[in-house]
Amino acid sequence: MGGAGLVTPGHSLGPTDRLMVVPTPLLELKNLHVEADGAPILRGVDLIVNEGEVHALMGPNGAGKSTLANVVMGHPGYTVTDGEILLHGENIADWSSDQRARAGIFLAFQYPEAISGVSVTQFLRQAISARKNLPELSVLEVRLDLAEWMDRLGMDPAFAERHLNDGFSGGERKRNEVLQMALLEPILALLDETDSGLDIDALRVVARGVRTVRDEHPAMGAVVVTHYVKLLEEIEPDQVHILVDGQIVHSGGPELAQDIEHEGYDAWRPVAS
Ligand code: ADP
Ligand code: MG
Repeated sequence: MGGAGLVTPGHSLGPTDRLMVVPTPLLELKNLHVEADGAPILRGVDLIVNEGEVHALMGPNGAGKSTLANVVMGHPGYTVTDGEILLHGENIADWSSDQRARAGIFLAFQYPEAISGVSVTQFLRQAISARKNLPELSVLEVRLDLAEWMDRLGMDPAFAERHLNDGFSGGERKRNEVLQMALLEPILALLDETDSGLDIDALRVVARGVRTVRDEHPAMGAVVVTHYVKLLEEIEPDQVHILVDGQIVHSGGPELAQDIEHEGYDAWRPVAS
């Protein structure tokens, strides 16, 4: 007997047998419909991210990319009106964002401007102690890990002592995000490229961060929202998806990013609905 199939007891595998191992996806969005303030934003998104995969999400402004990242994180401003969000096969659509964070989903925190006098290190201590349920975690313990990661990522150690709202540049905000990702050890990282004015150095921080964290945690999955083809050249995503008007209109390999750079998004229109 050849071909793909299930192995039955007593049947030994021959050279032409192929085992179909279909792992449960890390993240699966099934026909996801999402509204904010009563307005439909995502209109039937299907997406599968397996362990260890990096997916890039591209699309014009207003397509719903940030909405997708936020709704997977459980942001309360968004309502799932249809479909499912499955984490390792379990529908988490009703989980709070706190539960999701503890389960290992990560979306870089946008630290509120109001926090003053909190250093990068202190902030990370709070974030890690919440994620890993370690209320007694000391700043000292965080410092050791942090120093190691900053070294790996080629960051200036002085950055750890900077204050969070102390006029961070785009690149420094990205460094802070990458450090959060590295230290929180998420199973699924959502990186939303919200800054349109990021310079190439800031992009490199993100790309390098994703690659370095991935090397250390090969099972981590990631969804990276970006406009920048340059970033994708460095991140080398497994798949690229184009989101237009709340629908994924095309998915493909990294070469898709090049097509977009040359042709823009106009070639990709959503199906009529
Ligand atoms: P992208 O990140 O692709 O630029 P967004 O997800 O930010 O797109 O936004 C998609 C659409 O949904 C936009 O038209 C935006 O105005 C709208 N939108 C996003 N968040 C909200 C919200 N909280 N309330 C109302 N409308 C929203
Ligand atoms: Mg956005």
